[in-house]
This record gives sequence, C-alpha cells and structure tokens, in this order.
Amino acid sequence: MPYRQKKVVVIGAGSVGTAYIYALLPTGVAGEIALIDIDQNRVEGEVLDLSHGLPFIPPVKIKKGDYSDCADADIIVVTAGAKQQPGQSRLDLIQKNAQIVRSICHEISKQDCSAVFVMVTNPVDALTYVALKELKWNHQRIIGSGTVLDSARLKYLLSQHCKIDARNVHAYILGEHGDSEVAAWSMSHIAGVSLRDYCKICRACDYSEHHRRIAEEVRNSAYHIIGYKGSTYYGIGLSLVRITETILRNEHSILTVSSFLDGQYGIKDVCLSVPCVVGDTGVKMTIDAELAADELHALRASAQTIREVLEKIKG
Ligand code: NAD
Repeated sequence: MPYRQKKVVVIGAGSVGTAYIYALLPTGVAGEIALIDIDQNRVEGEVLDLSHGLPFIPPVKIKKGDYSDCADADIIVVTAGAKQQPGQSRLDLIQKNAQIVRSICHEISKQDCSAVFVMVTNPVDALTYVALKELKWNHQRIIGSGTVLDSARLKYLLSQHCKIDARNVHAYILGEHGDSEVAAWSMSHIAGVSLRDYCKICRACDYSEHHRRIAEEVRNSAYHIIGYKGSTYYGIGLSLVRITETILRNEHSILTVSSFLDGQYGIKDVCLSVPCVVGDTGVKMTIDAELAADELHALRASAQTIREVLEKIKG
C-alpha cells in the first residue's frame, strides 16, 4: 500500500494554533495541515504567510480547511476560543469556551473520523471532558495538552537551577493545567537519582525551599507571561509538536497529557494529567504510579477542582 502522508487539522487560527503550525512545519512529520477558524480572513492570511516558507522546509501542504477535513485526519487539534485576560484564571473561561467546544464537536461528529483529538483551549481539563461527552469516541482517542507544558516549565527551571541539560531532567506536573496543579517530586529524577537524593549529592541549595519556589514559579508562569505580553503561545506550540510527533510516529512516549481517569490514583470520571504512554491511537496506557501521600492528596483535590468547574456548565 502506498504511504499515506499524515494529516493534521487545526481548529483555531489564533496565536496558539499558528505558533503550533509554525513549529510543526520544519519537523516534516505532517504531510498536510488544514486550518479552520470562524474568522475566514485570518485563515486566508495565516495560510498564505505560512505557505511562503515552504521552499525552506520538508514538503507539506497547508490549506484553509473545513470540517470535512476531519474525515481523513490523523490528529485534530483544537485551539479555538477565548484566552485569559490579565488577572483571569483559566477556569474563568469555562462558560464561553464550553459553548465553542460543543459547537466544534458537533461539526466533527458529522464526519466518520478516526483521528486522535487534542484539546488545547482552556480550561483544558474540563474541556477535554466536555469533548469526550460530546464526541462519544473511545476515551483513549481524546486527550488534552494537559500539563505537558507545565512539566516542560518545571524541567526548564530545574535545569537552570541544577545546571543540567533540560532533556536530562525528568520531572512531572500532574493534575489540573491550572492553579491546583501538583509537582510530583516523588517521581522526578536526574540520571535515575531521585531529585531529593540528587540535591543531597549536589548540596548547592536548600532542597525543600528551592523546590517550593520552583513549583510556585511553574504555577504562575502563564500569569507572568500574560502580564508581560498578553498571551502565551511559543511554549504551548512546541509542547503540541511533541504531542503530535508521538501520535503521528506512534512513539509511545511518556507525556503528561490530560486524559479520562477511571480509578487510577483513586480518581474516577474526570480528565486530568498523569504520565501516559502516548501513540497513534492516543493514550495507550495510563501509568498508575505510587505517589507520596501529600502529592496523592493534592492530586485528588485537583480532580475535585476540575469537577466543580464542570458542575457550573451542567444542564
Ligand atoms: P486567540 O484569541 O489568538 O485565538 C483564538 C481563535 O479562536 C481566534 O482566531 C478565533 O477566531 C477562533 N475561534 C473562536 N471561536 C471559534 C469557533 N467556534 N470555531 C473556530 N474558531 C473559533 O487565542 P490563543 O492565544 O490562540 O488561545 C487559544 C486558547 O488556547 C485559549 O483558550 C487559551 O487559554 C488556550 N491556551 C492553552 C494553553 C494550554 O497549555 N492548554 C496554553 C496557551 C493558551
């Protein structure tokens, strides 16, 4: 059978959608990218602008799309909707963005589609759950970008602090992509040495004080960036490229995507982030690891925070 190029549909041509496409193009992992937005002029402009870089990158077709493009897509990435204003939390966006996500899912469900669905719009965990209920697909095919970005922020800050290549720092933020997120120190390590033990060897800092400060900085990162320049898009763009690569290449990489929990960590019927094995069909396996008691308690509290947000849009 001839090799079929992988197709990505991006719904939402704003800062996040276009930063993602811009970062995806040089990877060559997608053969076709279709961009959809209610703002038709914006899509025309973004498609033209992005297409003018084609002579410099591996072959790819970029086009203005519509929902029929979802029928043969391998991955559908939703970045459409309102973004945080300075001082607003992600959870404040729920009413407006839940409506948008429902209308988008309604259009997607008219297509006979086998793609993996990736929610990015905030509040991402609650909206992943909304999409799951609307689309009624196999749960493993519906994921949110979750705390992939937050975990990257944690790795970056630890790499700066420890003076180690960020790619050699294995650290995870779990739970909500938002204020109730949990730094899972008990599953974080450098060179197989737990961070707690690594700090004992290194002895350059006060372990608990620095870890507390770094976790707080991760939690507040988006607020700082939004305060400085209005919105965040490069970090999430690269996080989405990482998620896309593992899906399109069936890499089975471990990522803290948001997915439906059915009893793992004692948590049921909510979408949030824990380490998952991700491949061509979405979540291949949820890693139900042992956490420190305080982390498990915080993770369950984070699940409750997301449930309370979902309560607001019931009915
Ligand atoms: P933006 O305002 O630049 O773009 C949003 C786009 O959505 C606009 O082009 C708008 O026309 C489009 N849109 C609105 N309703 C639509 C609909 N029904 N159908 C199709 N398109 C529609 O916003 P942005 O900065 O790109 O942010 C987008 C979302 O991503 C926000 O909710 C933001 O909070 C979220 N975000 C998530 C993360 C994460 O880690 N999950 C990180 C950054 C931003």
